[in-house]
Amino acid sequence: MKQVVVGLGANLGAGQATLRAAACALREAYPDGFAASPLYRSAPQHCPPGSPPFWNAVVGFAVPEALAPEVLLDALLALEQVHGRARSVPNAPRTLDLDLVLFGDERIASPRLTVPHPRARDRDFVLGPLAALDPERRWPGTEDRVADLWAAFAGPRTLERVAERWC
Ligand code: AMP
Repeated sequence: MKQVVVGLGANLGAGQATLRAAACALREAYPDGFAASPLYRSAPQHCPPGSPPFWNAVVGFAVPEALAPEVLLDALLALEQVHGRARSVPNAPRTLDLDLVLFGDERIASPRLTVPHPRARDRDFVLGPLAALDPERRWPGTEDRVADLWAAFAGPRTLERVAERWC
């Protein structure tokens, strides 16, 4: 098995309920080693003016070694669609955004997938929840602990931790 991390975000509609439903669906599909970070609010970054704040969290779970990352990506995209995700302009408000942040220790650069997610280390709303969920994890290809990356994070910190148990 390998341990996967998925980032969840929503800033349209019933964001907290959407995150809970998506996390539950992932737990049902991938129950092994499932764990969720606390739930956070974060300020919109690089978004159109007037965008609402986000709900954010990350979840971790184990998948079989043989599972292709593209299969998991397809499952995430399908789950986004279930929750009415529409793609208009980049960074537009969204009902649900699911990112494949980590896929074991793998580094992937394929036409459909870049893993670790290329902006994960630059985003407080990914790194903060991940540091709460799995602080000792090493960033793939480095010796860096997630907790140390988060402690050294120099970008804007807009996170507000709103719930410990939410899914
Ligand atoms: P977005 O509109 O930001 O949700 O981007 C979704 C698209 O980004 C997907 O269709 C993927 O092909 C691509 N993508 C590349 N790397 C990743 C990743 N690590 N996690 C999720 N989507 C990715």
